[in-house]
Amino acid sequence: ERTSLAVRDLAVHFEMEQGTVRALEGVSFDLHAGRTLGIVGESGCGKSVTARSILRIVDRPGRIVGGQALLDPGTAEEADLIAMDPESRRMRGIRGGRIGLIFQEPMTALSVHYTVGNQIIEAVRAHNDLSKAAARDRAIELLREVGIPRPELRIDAYPFQLSGGLRQRVGIAMALAGDPDIVIADEPTTALDVTTQAQVLDLLRRLQREKNIALMLITHDMGVIAEMCDEVAVMYLGRVVEYAPVADLFTTSRHPYTRALLRAVPSILATPRQRLATIGGAVPHPGARPSGCAFHPRCSDFMPGRCDAASPAPLRPGEAGASCFLEAQP
Ligand code: SF4
Ligand code: MG
Repeated sequence: ERTSLAVRDLAVHFEMEQGTVRALEGVSFDLHAGRTLGIVGESGCGKSVTARSILRIVDRPGRIVGGQALLDPGTAEEADLIAMDPESRRMRGIRGGRIGLIFQEPMTALSVHYTVGNQIIEAVRAHNDLSKAAARDRAIELLREVGIPRPELRIDAYPFQLSGGLRQRVGIAMALAGDPDIVIADEPTTALDVTTQAQVLDLLRRLQREKNIALMLITHDMGVIAEMCDEVAVMYLGRVVEYAPVADLFTTSRHPYTRALLRAVPSILATPRQRLATIGGAVPHPGARPSGCAFHPRCSDFMPGRCDAASPAPLRPGEAGASCFLEAQP
């Protein structure tokens, strides 16, 4: 199976007046063609910053301070996105052309001022040498692929004339306009009602399989993880704390944080897409990171003098495990 993207030791700092906030530290994982990696965690754990770092669209005061994001690792074409100028022609071509992005709120990707057709046509032409007429045909085809009824009429609609579900389908069509082989979906169904969520997830799964896409699916919803993912990275305060095949995550999770997340949704497999309930204790502010294992103030297995004194070893990319002192330490 082909590795499409290898993220290694990604580190992002936010330079604030109060000091440096380590938003990401030592984040590593692989995306494989035809597979879905779920990134799960509570809000503020660094899921979106990870996505934005790969695409080189981290907003100030955020700054990537280390790590790599290797496109086509181990091949002659291997290229590190972190080493590229974010405004370069090459990076702009990769953004949308190799890596598509689906947002939580489709209006993030769409302008209110233009028809959906004009926006998709522009996205198609940004990544393909096509005439306007050919790009329009391609846009209609894309709208059909994402299940928009009567696309030859809908192409001239403005986004506000569409329902939230149709708008997210247009958002997906936009993400696919450059024919990417990697897609990052950041909470793609969070803003939708439950029925529409199911339909959009079905669509994503179908497209992912048909196009052999490497999908990185960001969510805080364990039900979405259970339904969609092959592997899962659990993030807490800017680090990956557990990595596992999806079935193992639900049956033999190894990190106390993962187990707390799962306890918060006990009937998860009976009622898919249930929202993640809150677990005990609040997420600390990333600028006030607890000493040692950052999860220790909320951990039911906390070992005083150990867990608050040092950090457990980080995970090796691609290997199942947990970053926790309950695991064998190297
Ligand atoms: Fe809990 Fe200690 Fe493991 Fe952290 S290292 S998750 S505090 S047992
Ligand atoms: Mg987010």
